[in-house]
Amino acid sequence: MLIVVRMPPRYRDPASRASRSRITCITLRLAALGQSERDHAACVLSLSYNDPCRATWRSYDPCVTEYRPPIQDIVFALQHVVGYDRLAALPQFEHADLETVAGMLEECGEFMAKVVAPINRDGDLVGSVRNPDGTVTTPESYRAAYAKLVESGWGSVQFPEEFDGGGFPWTIGLAIHELLQTASLAFALGPLLTHGAIDALLHYGSDEQKALYLPRMVSGQWTGTMNLTEPQAGTDVGALTTRAVPNGDGSYAITGQKIFITYGDHDLTENIVHLVLARTPGAPEGTRGISCFIVPKFVPDADGEPGERNAVSCLALEHKLGIHGSPTAVLSYEGATGYLIGEENLGMRIMFVMMNSARVSVGMQGLAVGTRAYQQALEYAGQRVQGEPIGPSGDATISGHPDVRRMLMTQRAYTLALRRLLLLNAVHIDLAQHAEDDAERERSAEIAALLTPISKSWGTDLGVELASLGIQIHGGMGYIEETGAAQHWRDSRITPIYEGTNGVQAADLVGRKLPVRDGASFLEFIASMREDLPALQAAGGEFAAVGASVGASIDLLERTTGWMLRTGGGGDAASVLAGSSAYLELWGHVLGGWLLARSALAASGLGDAAEAADQLATARFFASHLLPKSAALAAQATGGAADVFGIPLARL
Ligand SMILES: Cc1cc2nc3c(=O)[nH]c(=O)nc-3n(C[C@H](O)[C@H](O)[C@H](O)COP(=O)(O)OP(=O)(O)OC[C@H]3O[C@@H](n4cnc5c(N)ncnc54)[C@H](O)[C@@H]3O)c2cc1C
Repeated sequence: MLIVVRMPPRYRDPASRASRSRITCITLRLAALGQSERDHAACVLSLSYNDPCRATWRSYDPCVTEYRPPIQDIVFALQHVVGYDRLAALPQFEHADLETVAGMLEECGEFMAKVVAPINRDGDLVGSVRNPDGTVTTPESYRAAYAKLVESGWGSVQFPEEFDGGGFPWTIGLAIHELLQTASLAFALGPLLTHGAIDALLHYGSDEQKALYLPRMVSGQWTGTMNLTEPQAGTDVGALTTRAVPNGDGSYAITGQKIFITYGDHDLTENIVHLVLARTPGAPEGTRGISCFIVPKFVPDADGEPGERNAVSCLALEHKLGIHGSPTAVLSYEGATGYLIGEENLGMRIMFVMMNSARVSVGMQGLAVGTRAYQQALEYAGQRVQGEPIGPSGDATISGHPDVRRMLMTQRAYTLALRRLLLLNAVHIDLAQHAEDDAERERSAEIAALLTPISKSWGTDLGVELASLGIQIHGGMGYIEETGAAQHWRDSRITPIYEGTNGVQAADLVGRKLPVRDGASFLEFIASMREDLPALQAAGGEFAAVGASVGASIDLLERTTGWMLRTGGGGDAASVLAGSSAYLELWGHVLGGWLLARSALAASGLGDAAEAADQLATARFFASHLLPKSAALAAQATGGAADVFGIPLARL
């Protein structure tokens, strides 16, 4: 809660009666707040009071800006844009029809807005702390909200019923994750990592491991972590040195230090299930010699209850730019008891299962933080008056200034485009696993593989950009911490770094995904995007204009893909990699333009004139203001490596 007090001149003398009565009134309001909020507001109050430039007084409550879950748009995207009907038609998802899903999301959105969104600020201000005895304490509000989250069951919807999940498609789990992450990104990281660990165990765990760990992790009673990083082994996971020595009883003794471990220790649950990458004696060098182990914080006893404390301790929590509520731990394993998952040296394969779903979920963090920043900026722009806007809207507030409106539309168009991309990615992840036809499963696996690095990278880069625009729309107040606009940007900045940096995602796109079937996988997808163009053309007018822009950008993407294939095939890997980030961003823009055009066309036939007009205006804006970046990105993507390396390091 922030109360900005702008004192009229007659109140500036603290000794005057008018001033005293005003202060009394403010004090009464402050009394209604909690202690930390009071301290916070009082601090701003004193600053405001001493500032002679402030001439009016008003209260502004941005930190508790309500989160408005965009359920209507999520359901619209599922129904009309990303083909959710293909999933709902599968026999195992009979119960997950769109009507049921829409009702669930409505209820879930309400829960996230009421229970989770209000703790987002607290997580930033209070943060998680490591105590002198080595334990870790999360903010009190986190503990209360986490207990309610577990009770609500919203974290378990997409997991198999045999492990007490809801048996819904992963796509619906991702939609729920949007709501959770938008409510509070730092808080949602615990469930996000837990879900990745569950995926790894579902694929590679033994029956005993599944029976012991999965029901407790699915319910949220225990959380999971992902332990890859060591000081010398970041992107280069193969450089890790943590050792795993057989104990002779089937278990292993794990010794080593892991850094940057998200939710590595905390007080939200009675146990934590660490998934740890380590090397067994005599294992091959590099990534081929890595194995994956379950290392519980408390070793389960014969009844599966948390038993003996394992030899893993939290040495420190990192001091970070953002996500202060999320405890990022340095963990020391000193002969801790670990249990092998799968076979020795399968570690990277297991981690990839965990990372692939986590990558789309991290891409979702970009959408989440972008949405929260947009909602807050929109609210501010509708209140703040500065000058007389010159523009057709007639708004008296800054939202009427064309440049502010451009920023708001940019936030809206990118968030809508991202939501569609992420849900499309999720539908293909589900189809790759559940479609009845082999060929359909294989093709969806290829499409999911193509889209995943784009979802992660484009999603998180946009999250940072949209949060930055949120600050810009607030003007100076955005740079002042108390408004909360800066928190979104600080929180978002890690997302392009973890879960494989965005540079590594771009390298994955051109190095591993593009060569699939000598490029045919990419070219077939590009051809499939063209299938919507005749309908846009036939709709005429503005639809045809949007279709023409999208068509031109698809042509550009195809030509750039051809260049990538020729250049890579010619052995110039450095040039392909030098252009890889721009190529990925080009993909993002073309996908975004295409999906919004498809939305506009779908909305035009639904009988809701206002919604149809909004969807068309969003597609038009994307086509006219954002899609033109494609030409620059294509040029950048094909610029080659020579100029990138044009100056020796010593002279850079
Ligand atoms: C808040 C936070 C939470 C985290 N949570 C976890 C967690 O839960 N579990 C976990 O295991 N780790 C976690 N990490 C670690 C995170 O995944 C790594 O920081 C990330 O993988 C990058 O590794 P690095 O920091 O060593 O950077 P480096 O690998 O040193 O990279 C530095 C730069 O070089 C570039 N680069 C490096 N190699 C290549 C390459 N081959 N091609 C192109 N560019 C390259 C990178 O893109 C980057 O720009 C977390 C980190 C933070 C800060």
